[in-house]
Amino acid sequence: MRRSLVLLSAGLTVLSTGLAFAQNNTPRNLILFIPDGLRALKVTPETAPAMAEVRDKGVNFKNSHSLFPTFTMANGSAISTGHYLGDTGVFSNTIWTNYTSVPAGDTVVPFIENDAVLGDIDEHFKGDYLNEETILKMARDKGLSTAAIGKVGPTYQFDHTDHPEKPGKHSIVIDDSTGGKNGVALSDEMKEALTKAGLALATPGRGDNGKAGDAKTPGTTVANVAQQAYLADVATKVVLPMFKARNKPFVLVFWSRDPDGTQHNQGDSLNQIMPGINGPSTMASIKNADNNLAQIRKALDELGLAANTNIMIQADHGFSTISKESKTSPSAKVSYDDTPKDFLPMGFLALDLAKALDLPLFDPNDKNAAVIGNAHPKAGNGVLGKDPAKPDLVIATNGGSDLIYLPNRDKKLAAKTVKALLEQDYISGLFVDDSLGRFPGTLPLSSINLRGKSATPTPAIVVNFRSYASECGEAPTNCSVQVADTVLRQGQGMHGSFSRGDTFNFMAAIGPDFKAGFVDELPVSNADVGMTAAQLMGLRGAQNGGLVGRVMSEALPNGIVPKAFRTVEKSKMSENGLQTVLNVQRVGTQRYFDAAGFPGRTLGLETGKQKTAGK
Ligand SMILES: [Zn+2]
Repeated sequence: MRRSLVLLSAGLTVLSTGLAFAQNNTPRNLILFIPDGLRALKVTPETAPAMAEVRDKGVNFKNSHSLFPTFTMANGSAISTGHYLGDTGVFSNTIWTNYTSVPAGDTVVPFIENDAVLGDIDEHFKGDYLNEETILKMARDKGLSTAAIGKVGPTYQFDHTDHPEKPGKHSIVIDDSTGGKNGVALSDEMKEALTKAGLALATPGRGDNGKAGDAKTPGTTVANVAQQAYLADVATKVVLPMFKARNKPFVLVFWSRDPDGTQHNQGDSLNQIMPGINGPSTMASIKNADNNLAQIRKALDELGLAANTNIMIQADHGFSTISKESKTSPSAKVSYDDTPKDFLPMGFLALDLAKALDLPLFDPNDKNAAVIGNAHPKAGNGVLGKDPAKPDLVIATNGGSDLIYLPNRDKKLAAKTVKALLEQDYISGLFVDDSLGRFPGTLPLSSINLRGKSATPTPAIVVNFRSYASECGEAPTNCSVQVADTVLRQGQGMHGSFSRGDTFNFMAAIGPDFKAGFVDELPVSNADVGMTAAQLMGLRGAQNGGLVGRVMSEALPNGIVPKAFRTVEKSKMSENGLQTVLNVQRVGTQRYFDAAGFPGRTLGLETGKQKTAGK
């Protein structure tokens, strides 16, 4: 077995030097279509005919993986660079940056789906917070046409080091902020082309789709139709014709906010688990993203570009319905103005840890005001310690998982924190920075590729929350329910956990460089997408870190078909009998993470015993 592994990795190295187009130095065009938050098994010919067609006629990646923490910016960083999060440093959507970001609202824990915030973080981290080159930058440097269109945050992240005011070639970036003060400026060429096509110079807002509701008011019941219709029109009526006229290869990224935005905000299921994110609003949002893809494919046909264009579709992550239930949480027993009785409030992790560790809690989203009485932190984030300007512990709240940072690298505090976390029924799996030592009940960050060459600070502890399958009558991954630290309500939607419902993202591809009618059984991930996209376009960037995905050679004609192996990794047992279990698949040196957590508390988690019993 050892020898075959060596041969395998040698083979992959040869392949990644550019065999795919060795006979033809001009790469084909590439479209990366990201239906944000689309679960793999929600796509059928009825629910999403355009995506089903790509999957069924092209490559069906049926063993796909979003990277944990299963959030948008994190997975966007992997798709755009081919690196795991330990290298890109985008550990989640809200991270601790160890400095006060003004555009993020004077906070040390910025929410980074914002172009001005990304620009600010870039400046702080020597011009490139990702510390790895993106595909779009590499393509632009090579003189190819490049564009990123779609949801604010991940769209600009695809070419965040591009500065339109400087001379040289630029990417077209159109997102929610276009036309506003935070948006990337439009070139004169784009302004003229948009006007000629009868399209506005500013992206319309989300309207009702942006309404999340509250504990008494259901959220939205409409998909993000109007905004995405504009973005799809920009792609098909302006950008693709412009690229065709330039007559050179292009890379176009289209990041569809739906179904994510609608699944988060939907008002189909206020305060109750069913139907959760399987109600009519969600289904409309899946169809909305599908309509955008259909429009793009139709335009490729009409422009005569289809035969020379590869399309890769990958959701950044899956999705789950939110639960706010806990029997052990002290904060769930307190009553808050905006939270139904006995439900977990937003910021429960910060509140519960402040109590358990007996440390004062301050709100980094409220000028470090003390959080006292029946209040919770405004955005869930917390800084703990005597001096909020020099905290002992920082919590970046995200949803299905949260990040804990220990600015002083205090190992005793790490041990106390782990012990407190192990007491709570909403926790399922803890990952601790290797440099802090090993703690029974937890696995090291390195085991899930979260320790690398990141420019941003590495979290001390990554906390995964409990998940389970509801009786929704579909595949368990479509019925995922998770405890989530969020302002959103029980019954609305969230992601970020190690549930297989969150890691199982929709993935498919079609085009001249992909096999046709091929079902790929091998594990693949969003980091592999980045590496494969670079391979298809003949791009090679400077690599700082070594946590890279693999080229999905088995999906390419004449590509090597490697072998995969499954393993179950387990931590030592904690004093109270808990053990973080990690389900891993391997292809050569690549590691894929299906699910992780405490047995019985994570959807899709298999323990070793079940496997030997014949599963
Ligand atoms: Zn989301």
